[in-house]
Amino acid sequence: MTRQSSLTTQPVLDTIPAGSIPTHHVGCPRCGLSLSIPTIVPGDQAQCPRCNQHLVRVEKYPIDTPMAYASASLIIMIIVYSQLYMIVDMFTLHVDLTLPYMLSTLAQQDYSLLAEVMFLLTFGSPLIFLLLCLYVYIGLYYQHVLPGMLYATRTLVRLRHWIMVDVFFIATLVAYIKIIGNAQIHFGLAFWLMMVLAMLLIRTSQGVPEHWIFYQIQTLTGNDPTLVKHNDSTISCNYCLFEQPMEQNTCNVCGSFLSKRKPLSLRISMAFLLSAIILYIPANLLPMMSTRAPNSNLASTILDGIEYMWKDGDIFIAVVIFSASMAIPVLKIIAMLILLYSAAYQPLMSPGKLTILYRITESIGRWSMIDIFVVIILMSVFTSPLARVTPGAATVYFCGVVIFTMVSALSFDSRLLWDEAKTTNHTIRRRKRHQL
Ligand SMILES: [Zn+2]
Ligand SMILES: [Zn+2]
Repeated sequence: MTRQSSLTTQPVLDTIPAGSIPTHHVGCPRCGLSLSIPTIVPGDQAQCPRCNQHLVRVEKYPIDTPMAYASASLIIMIIVYSQLYMIVDMFTLHVDLTLPYMLSTLAQQDYSLLAEVMFLLTFGSPLIFLLLCLYVYIGLYYQHVLPGMLYATRTLVRLRHWIMVDVFFIATLVAYIKIIGNAQIHFGLAFWLMMVLAMLLIRTSQGVPEHWIFYQIQTLTGNDPTLVKHNDSTISCNYCLFEQPMEQNTCNVCGSFLSKRKPLSLRISMAFLLSAIILYIPANLLPMMSTRAPNSNLASTILDGIEYMWKDGDIFIAVVIFSASMAIPVLKIIAMLILLYSAAYQPLMSPGKLTILYRITESIGRWSMIDIFVVIILMSVFTSPLARVTPGAATVYFCGVVIFTMVSALSFDSRLLWDEAKTTNHTIRRRKRHQL
């Protein structure tokens, strides 16, 4: 209660509960619809009536809840990275796996790129995300504008897409099924807590609404972003969603570059997509990993690996790896080509369906990292001369495919799909305007 009453104290908010945002205009970041949001009080959420995009979702306890989740995540993360992850027993081989051990194995064997990718996606991004969350919310809690608070908020929003603790956890289960035929495996405390950490990170991410945070920071400095009224000479900021005078280069609320649509969105998105398509060829033709045992020496591509699993009767893993490594990247590339073509030339389906396609494309791309993480785990387990797994050249190209398709999707401005609709289907423009 103390915290809630210590929230914003702007005179304009005297008549509405603390932690609220008064009625104001925003532009939907997904479809570009300009709409008026009624007063948002803690516990409320607002959604775009045209594309169903969540515009803002404020927790009932808007500071306590995110701080609690972020603190709990941070504590569990420290335990996950300091305790045993997995114990593997195979003949005379005994491996006590911890996550730092996996990273050092990769780095020592000159697979520094894989070490960096794993480090950034499972440790670096979530750690920085949590620290920035706590930094911003401590400032809000004490009603004090800390240095770089706006920059910290912008950064934590961008980091959300690059947290892959949940993907690593599922990859561990796939690796487990692969190893279990040849070795005994016991999971350590870190493994079980990683599942908890993955869920807490998702929950923390959901509880940190940037639109609300930017508003709170501005009210601490005596500004009220809702006072800028929507008219023909204002545009909505891509990041904080508040209306800003069109002639400005940067947003007064969040400090981002101000533009009606993301500059060169289609070209940048297409450039990354073409790079991903080119890298997809060596990613499939070159070996993904090499398995060396006393009686055999086997280099396998992604397709080989799926085939071995299928023939061995591990149909579940074959399906998971096929979906993550073959189906998702190909479908994502096709989806991005449809979206880019629709935005640049002729819509291939309705803007609503294209937006759903974009939303799916944006959210599934990260799951392609499963196969890379499986190779990392197998490599960390099998390091002895009796059985050794080494990553193949395809891992580097495959990482490139996943990262470039993700950047391609993130660079794409989905509002262009609806801009096109306005010129071809006027009924869509009139429908539900200014409704919420
Ligand atoms: Zn929308
Ligand atoms: Zn802004």
